[in-house]
Amino acid sequence: MADYPFYHSHIEISGEVLQGNARYLHRNLKSGTQSMAVIKADAYGHGAVDVARAVGDLYDRFAVANVTEAVALRKAGVTKPILVFGVPVPQTVRAYPEYDLEAVVSEDGHFDLLEQGTAYHVEIDTGMGRLGILPDDLDRVRRRIESVGRIACKGVMTHFASADEGDCAKMQEQKRLLAQVREVFGGRYPLHAANSAGSLDHPDTHLDMVRHGIALYGYDPTPEPSDQLRPAMKWRSWVAQCKYIHKGDSLSYGATWQAPEDGYYAVVPTGYADGYRRGLSGRMPVRIEQRWYPQVGRVTMDYIMVWLGGDRYDAGTAVLVMGGERNHAGLWAQAIGTIPYEICCGIHTKVPRRMV
Ligand SMILES: *Cc1c(COP(=O)(O)O)cnc(C)c1O
Repeated sequence: MADYPFYHSHIEISGEVLQGNARYLHRNLKSGTQSMAVIKADAYGHGAVDVARAVGDLYDRFAVANVTEAVALRKAGVTKPILVFGVPVPQTVRAYPEYDLEAVVSEDGHFDLLEQGTAYHVEIDTGMGRLGILPDDLDRVRRRIESVGRIACKGVMTHFASADEGDCAKMQEQKRLLAQVREVFGGRYPLHAANSAGSLDHPDTHLDMVRHGIALYGYDPTPEPSDQLRPAMKWRSWVAQCKYIHKGDSLSYGATWQAPEDGYYAVVPTGYADGYRRGLSGRMPVRIEQRWYPQVGRVTMDYIMVWLGGDRYDAGTAVLVMGGERNHAGLWAQAIGTIPYEICCGIHTKVPRRMV
């Protein structure tokens, strides 16, 4: 810990909101369908250990991107099965049996690479064009699974490229190839394919298990989002300084904004070094004591400025910079043409996360 543990902003994660989202997402699953909480990238920036604790009773298992993330969860006392999406490599293969982690086999070499006794899932690339064995090889892979006795197949998976675009051509093509996967592997090994969008919008892809990421955190990726999911993340900072300016005076780099009248503004110590994206300059409001105020002028490395007009706040007053109904990560993403995944993961790790 730093010598003076004091932070310019912090993130609050609501365990109750996460649990509410998880319950909503489980409502449309057939009974017996297993579920996996995807908590890679530190649970999309929400804090993987705390999220695992908050929703551990509602999910059968967890998934992360790499062995380092998985080992951290084990060391924090997480005991449910953990699937590691990333490729096994010689440097990490021993960790799987040592920490009881499940591997993903996405090419033939992995069958030989994994250590005796490792549990694994086979990934088939039905069109995502990322990791996975191509569908041409399904029968050969099935024989390979049956012939390698030293490691144990616990599932067969694939990943969708466009589950969030309704029944588009790409999704239909992947469903067609998924039907082949089902023919070859169905009944032999648990099958899983659906991400959040698949789980919400494509019940025909639920199979034996679904994998929930972004929707668990409160962002509905489907074309017609429901209002049942709520963002679990609130990013809070405070007023570092409150100042008076005259009509026509400018603020911040480039002097892109001028005061429309005499009034006050707040300097808030959160900037692009923290993950407050510079592309949002002048685009999103903040909330102070239940009132909304526009962020104005360019976002700087460590600060934003907020126009208060006639209002005035003491230094130290709390500021909600992200996570309210008018400034949550979904709205940030829309404003700068990206997705809430990138916004949430993009908040710097130096910003402390607290579960509330
Ligand atoms: C990240 C990821 C998910 C979760 O996707 P969401 O859209 O966040 O639900 C599921 N499966 C795989 C393989 C992933 O990499």
